[in-house]
Amino acid sequence: MPPTSFAGLTHSDIGLPREGEAVFRDKYIWSESVKKYLCSVCGYSTPYRSNIIVHLPKHYPELRRFRCPICSKRYGRKDLWKSHLRSRHPEIADIILSPTWHS
Ligand SMILES: [Zn+2]
Ligand SMILES: [Zn+2]
Repeated sequence: MPPTSFAGLTHSDIGLPREGEAVFRDKYIWSESVKKYLCSVCGYSTPYRSNIIVHLPKHYPELRRFRCPICSKRYGRKDLWKSHLRSRHPEIADIILSPTWHS
């Protein structure tokens, strides 16, 4: 069975994103007229909520929910976070990136 924690760290220590969190809500605007989500900082617009969630951490470092448990570097994008783990901490990447850890 794969481990569900690493060095005493839990999911919340790593800060896996919960997209439904209220923390995102006051940072974008849903425009009914154009049916798009608008970034309240730079005006970026997208019809997909998932895109605005990925976009917002560019302006708000605190929304970078993917945190490296080893060096505490933060990423707004899961793919960048994963590649950081794989390249910098290959010895623990498999454990942290395992499906059990994520569920
Ligand atoms: Zn923006
Ligand atoms: Zn790291």
